[in-house]
Amino acid sequence: MADAPEAPRAQTTPPPGPGTDLTRRAFLRASGAVGTAVATGAARPDAARPAPSIRNRVQLGRTGIEIPDISFGSFSLEADADEALVHHALDRGVTHFDTAEGYTEGRAEKILGRALQGRRDEVTITTKYWAVPENSAAHQMKMLEQSLRHLKTDYVDIYMNHAVNDVDRLGEEWQAFATRAKEEGKIRAIGMSGHAPRLAQCMEYALDQSLVDVFLVAYSFAQQPSFKDSLKAYLSDWLPSLDIVASQARLPELIARAHGEGVGVMVMKTLKGARMNDMRAFERPGRTFSQAAFRWVLSDPSVDGLVISMTSTDAIDEFVEASGSGEPDREDLALLARYLAKNVGTSCLIGCGDCASSCPAGVEIPDVMRMRMYDLDYRQPTIARREYAQVGRNALACLSCSGTPCATACPSGLDIAGLARDTHHRLA
Ligand code: SF4
Ligand code: SF4
Repeated sequence: MADAPEAPRAQTTPPPGPGTDLTRRAFLRASGAVGTAVATGAARPDAARPAPSIRNRVQLGRTGIEIPDISFGSFSLEADADEALVHHALDRGVTHFDTAEGYTEGRAEKILGRALQGRRDEVTITTKYWAVPENSAAHQMKMLEQSLRHLKTDYVDIYMNHAVNDVDRLGEEWQAFATRAKEEGKIRAIGMSGHAPRLAQCMEYALDQSLVDVFLVAYSFAQQPSFKDSLKAYLSDWLPSLDIVASQARLPELIARAHGEGVGVMVMKTLKGARMNDMRAFERPGRTFSQAAFRWVLSDPSVDGLVISMTSTDAIDEFVEASGSGEPDREDLALLARYLAKNVGTSCLIGCGDCASSCPAGVEIPDVMRMRMYDLDYRQPTIARREYAQVGRNALACLSCSGTPCATACPSGLDIAGLARDTHHRLA
């Protein structure tokens, strides 16, 4: 494990919650301020405002790796022209780039590699491989070397086992590979990413066995107890029902433990479904839903930085504007609450999986819902269709099913059968 000293972090104060001066009246006033944006139509970043740039850089645990608080996610890098997005992000001070061997069937790594040619010394890179127990250490080394070729580099800063949801994937072959790759200087830090139902179990195992230097995990404002406390205290009679069903209830505790032990903590899926376009009418420049969500998650003292898919120059500017922008305030809280309210009963909880065993046909409901999110919320239909084709048991069986077995399986009240059938029609 890396043993570089832990980075000093900016002092943070707790987000608004019980015990702060956030009264319900103040909250409603803030909600009203958000509503004003509807009348003015002001929502997107204003072209007349100065170009934003990264304002906060942090040490990633004890790895010795410095990252911006907001990093570039390459999940949707698809075409050669997307190199321009990488250059735009660099111009804005984004110097950490997150990718994976499997993103866009390898194209994301290659596009990133070409875009970063000649600038490797200015940046740090994470890439990932979905290692399973059957993969030998030698096979995993070959996959790393393929990623290095794609990225046109001889090392990556962080190499992760991708989307781990089973401790067997952190077994002897993976450990032998990761240790050797680090000794050979091909990777600086060993990591694990995850977003699925057994994430907490896998994180705990990795911490107990001292297996990783960095985590990248799905984590959003709705998973922080302080956020839920704020809503309960100030909004319980304003919005009748909010989607604050706990998923991954142990995540805050494990993130805090990781941070305390010097393991770097990066987070993703911070927008809780990224239905940003539902929110545009309530936003104003410098005060968008995504910026509020970033402020909230970055105010968690155990979180080092976040990764977000950057799909347009406007989105990059909007995201980067949130860098180092301080604590979330009342107006942010109102935006986040409004987002939850708008998505009650239609938004699948990332990392939940409570419905997983409800289907007698074995439909992989959480994965079907995730592909739906890629299609409708991320607005990435090509990627969604491609990934849907990889789902072992997709929603084909739902077309001829009554829907009774899964009808009450979702604690958030999702109409699983209806959503699954619609998803199959869209993506099959
Ligand atoms: S609709 Fe039927 S087949 Fe589809 S997930 Fe529900 S129980 Fe399974
Ligand atoms: S459909 Fe409901 S129960 Fe299933 S993973 Fe999503 S939120 Fe959880």
